[in-house]
Amino acid sequence: MASDRLNLSDLEKKALKLIIEAGEKGLLQQDLWKRLNIDSRDGSRIALRLAKKKLIHRELVTVKGRKTYRLTALVDHIPEEEEEPEEKKEVKYERRVPRAIKLDVKVRMGLVAKIPCTVCPHASKCGPGNFFDPATCPKLNQWLQKAARALERKGAKRATRVQS
Ligand code: SF4
Repeated sequence: MASDRLNLSDLEKKALKLIIEAGEKGLLQQDLWKRLNIDSRDGSRIALRLAKKKLIHRELVTVKGRKTYRLTALVDHIPEEEEEPEEKKEVKYERRVPRAIKLDVKVRMGLVAKIPCTVCPHASKCGPGNFFDPATCPKLNQWLQKAARALERKGAKRATRVQS
């Protein structure tokens, strides 16, 4: 039932309230429509809708030779209307001011200073897809290989120190 929206009309709520108040003995359908001041057809429709929503039980009974229904509540209170599904709700986003992030990175200035791009005369014309392209630049490639070898040596030294 949780996924079905009940959408109870005011009249259905009134009817359900009367049926709940009638307790275990229930309320005859003919008494319901009289108390709601509606005709038997509307009374029957309301009872059917409440039964379909599993809020009441309809039991066929014979009273003074006439067939009618005894209505008993399956709930002890009128259910709250369910909230609108998430996807139908208007979503409002609040722009948050980004927090300052503190980066704790040690930069070896000696290494940065040796990047060939810092002194390259073509730096202003260099870019991906250009004639001067970092992806194909031999100077930058050489520097990267040198830096990688230096890092490898440093890593190996550290590993040796840990072992001994
Ligand atoms: S990538 Fe090569 S061409 Fe481009 S700025 Fe660096 S050194 Fe100069």
